Order: sequence, then C-alpha cells, then structure tokens
Amino acid sequence: MGLITENVRTLLREIPKDVKIVAAAKSRTLDEVREAIDAGIEIVGENYLQDSKGIIEELKDSASWHFIGHVQKNKVKHIVPLFDMIETVDSAELASIIDDIAARHSKRVSVLIEVNSGLELQKAGAVPEDVPALASFISGLSNLKLKGLMTMGPFLEDIEGLRPCFCATKKIFDELRNASIAGIEMEYLSMGMSDSYKIAIEEGANIIRIGTLIFGSRQPKA
Ligand SMILES: *Cc1c(COP(=O)(O)O)cnc(C)c1O
Repeated sequence: MGLITENVRTLLREIPKDVKIVAAAKSRTLDEVREAIDAGIEIVGENYLQDSKGIIEELKDSASWHFIGHVQKNKVKHIVPLFDMIETVDSAELASIIDDIAARHSKRVSVLIEVNSGLELQKAGAVPEDVPALASFISGLSNLKLKGLMTMGPFLEDIEGLRPCFCATKKIFDELRNASIAGIEMEYLSMGMSDSYKIAIEEGANIIRIGTLIFGSRQPKA
C-alpha cells in the first residue's frame, strides 16, 4: 500500500464523520492526486490554475474541486468552469467578476468568504467587520451561492495561537447563520491545515484542508 493511501486512511479513521477533508494538492503530480482520490478523498483543493488544469481535466468526475489559492481577477474566466467551489472570495469586486463569468457559463458557483482572522499578521481575506456586508452583497448575486467561511490564520510558531483566530471566525459564521439571510446557506466552515486541524475541529471547522499529512513534505521545485 502506498504512503498516500495509508495517510488518507489514517486521517479518515481519525476525524469525525461530519468533517470533510480537502486534499490540498499544490505542486503534487497527477499520480499523487489520483492515489489520494482512490484512497477515499472526495474533495481536492488547488491553489494555482496552471498546475491544476491538466489534473482536473484528467480526474474531473472522480472528485469535487475547490479553488483555495489567491484568485487573480484575470484568471477567473479559467477558474470558474473548472472548479466546484471557490473558497477564497474576499471582496465585492471579486464576487462580481465571478458572478459575471459564471453567468456566461450558466453555472451557479459555490463560494466561501475568506476571512482575515489574523488581522495584521495576515494579508489575505476580508477583515471580520466587513464580512456581514460582503455576505449580503453575495446573497444578491444570482450566479453565486454563498456556502460559508474559510480562514487561514497567520503563520505562527505556536499553533495554539491560531485558536483565537478560528474561534473568532466561528463566531462570525454563527452570527451569519442565525441571521438567516435569504439566498445564503451557512453550511461550511473551512479552517485548519496539517499542523492545526485538530484545533480547528475543536473550534468548529467542518472542512479541513490537508496537504503535508496526506502527500508528505513538499519538495522544493528543481
Ligand atoms: C497548502 C495549503 C493547505 C495545506 O497545508 P499543509 O500544511 O500542507 O497541510 C491548506 N490551505 C491552503 C490555502 C493551502 O495553500
């Protein structure tokens, strides 16, 4: 049995049944991604369009595909047809661009709002106080479906330091869910990576994004 297969099975045994795993596959090969899917991975996350296009075209129907990288506005036209969900929407401008392209494809794209929960230590994501307004803006776009929130948190030596970031994101998630805004379904909270997924699950994540624990350490590109 291959190492990736073993890693996926261990993880699937370990995490609660209601938590979904996104296999974060940046810089991995087609064969590596296929092994993860064959071992039971149902969702694959990709950061870079260029790296993932060929892999998705090959494996499209065997998994669902989440875009988890920074979205460059000029790449949206290529991202929309390939991906089932975009986890990293952080502005009204980006949401509008995705909505336009999705309309051209007659597609309803599921999105998460990326929350900048680490504030000054973190660059990507909408700041927490802007998230409710962004959520209601997205609820008015007919080709987007807001499904929840995602956060990275800052890079920290001590991962316990992420707990307040995850907790703050869960609080926004609950507030939006309780607000029952028409047209949005607060279903997914995507938080936690290989080193932090346990804390994230304790704080309410139901999607975790795992790269290293599935595929091993990333080799520097030659
Ligand atoms: C790479 C990546 C992950 C997974 O990171 P690991 O530490 O390798 O598990 C999760 N989320 C995003 C957005 C990533 O880019």
